[in-house]
Amino acid sequence: MITKKSKYIIDTQELLNEDILKKIKAFCFQKTDSDIKSISNWILENWRIDLTLDQDIILGYLKDWSNIEGYAIGMCRPKNNFESSILIQIFNELKIPFTISAGRTNLTGSATPNGGFIISTEKLNRSKPTVKNNHVLCSPSSLLEDMRQEVLNETNSEMYYPVDPTSRKEATIGGTISCNASGFVPGKKGATRHWVRGLDIILPNGKFLSCKRGEYISKNNFFQIDGNKIKIPEYNRPKIKNASGPYTGCDGDIDFVDLIVGSEGMFGLITNCSLFIESRPRSFLDLFIILDSEKNAFSLFHFLNTQNKIETLNAFEYFGYNCQKYMNNKQYFFNKNSEVGVYLQIPIMEQSEDQKCSEWSSLLLNSNCNIHGDNIYVLNDKKSWDLFFNSRHSIPENALKESKKLGGVSIITDIIVPKENFAQLIEGTHRLIKNSKIEYLLFGHLGDCHLHFHMIPEKREEITAKKTYDQIVDLSSSLGGVYSAEHGTGRRKKNDFIKCYGYEAVRQLYNIKKSLDPNELLNSGNIIT
Ligand SMILES: Cc1cc2nc3c(=O)[nH]c(=O)nc-3n(C[C@H](O)[C@H](O)[C@H](O)COP(=O)(O)OP(=O)(O)OC[C@H]3O[C@@H](n4cnc5c(N)ncnc54)[C@H](O)[C@@H]3O)c2cc1C
Repeated sequence: MITKKSKYIIDTQELLNEDILKKIKAFCFQKTDSDIKSISNWILENWRIDLTLDQDIILGYLKDWSNIEGYAIGMCRPKNNFESSILIQIFNELKIPFTISAGRTNLTGSATPNGGFIISTEKLNRSKPTVKNNHVLCSPSSLLEDMRQEVLNETNSEMYYPVDPTSRKEATIGGTISCNASGFVPGKKGATRHWVRGLDIILPNGKFLSCKRGEYISKNNFFQIDGNKIKIPEYNRPKIKNASGPYTGCDGDIDFVDLIVGSEGMFGLITNCSLFIESRPRSFLDLFIILDSEKNAFSLFHFLNTQNKIETLNAFEYFGYNCQKYMNNKQYFFNKNSEVGVYLQIPIMEQSEDQKCSEWSSLLLNSNCNIHGDNIYVLNDKKSWDLFFNSRHSIPENALKESKKLGGVSIITDIIVPKENFAQLIEGTHRLIKNSKIEYLLFGHLGDCHLHFHMIPEKREEITAKKTYDQIVDLSSSLGGVYSAEHGTGRRKKNDFIKCYGYEAVRQLYNIKKSLDPNELLNSGNIIT
């Protein structure tokens, strides 16, 4: 939203005084990263920043959920903006790469260190989330689910933060902003971007910037930061649920907040956040519906879409091919192995639960999708809901565990295409994976026409699996889609970015990265660098 007060000129703040800056420069002069022991001792002596070179401790930070191997010479856990700025300033002086690491639940290797230091956000500006009218102020290190619960507690369940990725109990707020993570809610409201009100950031040069949505808007696709013109990328990002590379000015000028959201930490360290919250529906009707085929599950989507019901839902999740095999407690939900399921969460504003339930029962029974009354489960007591949540969460978790057991790399597609090409994408992808004979399952966000094919190759099938994955990404591009709707690019999907957007887009991203991070130190190896 552009207001009269919106500016494209940004002045950052120096958090370190002249004496400290001089001291750092003098100490770092002619030092290299081979003097790392003396450098770390000096940091400890002068500022008592939590920092270690102990590889036994660092080991726990070398891998994220992508399972890609990383390496690092050191790890630090700054407690506040000042400590973060000191560290980043020193890394710049010594040209030491540094990687931001939070909950490490990303699936693309975006928090996997590529040498240098790890900056763990686990102690950063720790504080209890605080609700103020229509927003919540929080630390990037808070776990998303803790913040969501705190909002409910503080507002007597009248307000809530609706973004609910499956990993919400392990992912941090900083991580979900950086990845623009999304959850069950279909449409724009399901992704983090919609809810970000303001951010505090330490840029890769150690300077501090606080920005609110609407405060800084690019002008002719430029920002001016501390006198330097920064050109924002303009490559064309399809207007669908999209986490493939940073936001661009393809449709005109953009908010600085949007440049940071979804940029996977390549432009700075988020040190504090302000997120919008909204009124919580009085209650929800949670339904799990068993269907006899994928065809009928997709027909249900089309039926509800024609009834304009999709955008009213808080969740429309699909449990498709082979999900039962990887789902804990499947016996509570399914009768036959061939069945698939959908989960609907329906907000209740004014009606009673019974009224809502009978309204939806008759809608579903009249959908012509072969749904019978005894195939609809109401999950409205806490026990059923917890059982369902754990079962839902167990699917990717068990599939990832199976991959680890087989010693192979699990490959999860995150492809998405415009809704009109969805059926073609799903049919083509089933065909490609079936031809490769690789084990897989299918689940995801049917409300957004965004499903994940999770391939579980054995070690000997890895090359075939990678080839198949490439063919799937090509298929999604040919249907006007992108390779990532929610997981991002990281290190694993750099090639997909090039295939999707081309080398001109890489050049544009590289230019802005160079302008903000001339030494290419921050999160090096991510997306394009
Ligand atoms: C079982 C499972 C289920 C999942 N389900 C979903 C889902 O439903 N929806 C979804 O969107 N994703 C999902 N994910 C992916 C993952 O949880 C998200 O990408 C999440 O946003 C990552 O948060 P994190 O705290 O773990 O960040 P990390 O993995 O630690 O980091 C992710 C990226 O963010 C950067 N970063 C982290 N904190 C900051 C900061 N303070 N400042 C700047 N950069 C930062 C890191 O450098 C890295 O590039 C799932 C993952 C797993 C393992």
